[in-house]
Amino acid sequence: MASAPIPEPIVRYLVPFAEADGRAEPGCEPWRAYGQHQFWLGRYPADEPPLHVQELRPEGLLEFDRPDFLLHRVVAGTPYRVTHLFGFWHVSDEDLLWFQFPRTDLVFYVALAGGMTGLGGDHSIVWYCGECAHEIYRRDLHGAGNTGELLTPGATPVVEAFNADPALRRCPSCGWEHPPAYPFSPLDPTPGARRPPEW
Ligand SMILES: [Zn+2]
Repeated sequence: MASAPIPEPIVRYLVPFAEADGRAEPGCEPWRAYGQHQFWLGRYPADEPPLHVQELRPEGLLEFDRPDFLLHRVVAGTPYRVTHLFGFWHVSDEDLLWFQFPRTDLVFYVALAGGMTGLGGDHSIVWYCGECAHEIYRRDLHGAGNTGELLTPGATPVVEAFNADPALRRCPSCGWEHPPAYPFSPLDPTPGARRPPEW
């Protein structure tokens, strides 16, 4: 019997969160691609406002605001955002896994996206009304790359266009004006530079 073809090799990777002796400084890593995954790591002082995943479900807004160790899966196609990290709703054709590891002085946050073949890199950036939850503005980006590419350079011009035009930020249903939004804003540990977004 002929042997079966060798499946696509699993790419092995190892990402240390801290130094070998356990020390770690506040700050964030850029998005990196490892095989089919993209990885982001944030090390936030424990007294900073927490990063929480929010999802918009048919039943309403869910915020996963647990203070303890957490693994949360955002299913592809679900509008989600992360408080104090980016001020828009992202819809992706990739799953996202969100990990939270609280320690004494720091909280480690890890986002791991992708992990599948054959995805088109299709994303949407959306804002919803703060009063009536109606969709205010949506930009669909087809073939825009992976989640890391979308969240870092990809979304920024969309956010800038949204902020520049009050008409785009007005709810077509009730007239409420969405405040200007912020792009992907990882912690900058430089003294004086840290200014966590308000929501
Ligand atoms: Zn409205």
